[in-house]
Amino acid sequence: MTISRGSTEGTGLWQSDVDLRRLCSFATAARARFFVALEQEDELPATLDEANDKDLPVLIMGGGSNMLLTENYPGLVVKIDLKGISVRADSSSADHVLLNAAAGENWHALVEYCLDNSFYGIENLALIPGSVGAAPVQNIGAYGVELSDVLVSVRYFDLRFQQVVQLSAQECQLAYRDSIFKQALKGSAVILSVCLRLAKKPDLKIAYPALQQALHDISDPSARDVFNAVCAVRRSKLPDPAVLGNAGSFFRNPVVSRTLYQTLLQQWPELPSYATDNPEKVKLPAAWLIERAGWKGKRHGDAGVHEQQALVLVNYGQATGLQILQLAKAVARSVQQQFNISLEPEVNVLPASAWQSV
Ligand SMILES: Cc1cc2nc3c(=O)[nH]c(=O)nc-3n(C[C@H](O)[C@H](O)[C@H](O)COP(=O)(O)OP(=O)(O)OC[C@H]3O[C@@H](n4cnc5c(N)ncnc54)[C@H](O)[C@@H]3O)c2cc1C
Repeated sequence: MTISRGSTEGTGLWQSDVDLRRLCSFATAARARFFVALEQEDELPATLDEANDKDLPVLIMGGGSNMLLTENYPGLVVKIDLKGISVRADSSSADHVLLNAAAGENWHALVEYCLDNSFYGIENLALIPGSVGAAPVQNIGAYGVELSDVLVSVRYFDLRFQQVVQLSAQECQLAYRDSIFKQALKGSAVILSVCLRLAKKPDLKIAYPALQQALHDISDPSARDVFNAVCAVRRSKLPDPAVLGNAGSFFRNPVVSRTLYQTLLQQWPELPSYATDNPEKVKLPAAWLIERAGWKGKRHGDAGVHEQQALVLVNYGQATGLQILQLAKAVARSVQQQFNISLEPEVNVLPASAWQSV
């Protein structure tokens, strides 16, 4: 690995031929032609200019916990390491605070920070791996809470116009595992910081069945109890990427027409479903479909479908990104054949064209 200082004044250390395996939770072998860790916001324009001058594509990376690299990256990987948390009063409500967090802060550490300081609203999102900056990209969610419940605004650097822009939560178009950053702004926004509105008094969301069960013995749970319960449930159900490579749920839960749902119910009366905002649409658990299609616990070499959670694909050690992708495609094909439902990846497959071409 060669290390050189970027030729443009003010940019961080550029490294070449960098192994990305340890930087991505799937732990598949892939290298970046160039890599830089961005610790200062004001270094970003020069870094991007330099990549542009060298005709290099740019990949923005946070914690690497929602990516599947299927080949070496031919350009510059910019790891967002911006740090800083600040809190101020919310002038519109004495019961809330506004918290700004830089994109490179660790999400789970932020959840702990909030709990320690009696700021409530994100305790259900404990133990989601990755960075604060990636949280709006897919509107992270778990156990009945989504980022959209607390997000006020996002500051990002627009690569097309070379300027910092602030979007309100509404302008971010947050939806189920989706946002403007996965759609219209895909590839042209570097998120710098987020602003969250958090409550000074807990308003616990504990309706989610697994959470209710975990809190069963506690008569008047606190936010800390909810946090602990979420951590315990997650640890019991999800593989730890430090032990077994994975990127959490590989597929999004499909949203289908009520007509298709009714047809499927005739053959599978036990098919679970969730209501959506649209009465004509129903969300189905992808894990159930994958399990019924016979994939739970299946293994192709070192690429596998997790034994306890069929929605999670895992790397048992030496699986390549392509092998994981081929397994994912095989799973999706069988769900399509059996249920006439198209599964789409929640994980960011790189390059994006690989999903269609496998
Ligand atoms: C065990 C496990 C459990 C998980 N559980 C959940 C869960 O319960 N709920 C959930 O929603 N997700 C879950 N995930 C997925 C993942 O943790 C989240 O999507 C997380 O927000 C990804 O953060 P990251 O920093 O690792 O993103 P990365 O993997 O680094 O990046 C993800 C995407 O965001 C882009 N990106 C990253 N940072 C920025 C930035 N600053 N500006 C612009 N674009 C950026 C990247 O280019 C990429 O497209 C889980 C993952 C694992 C491994």
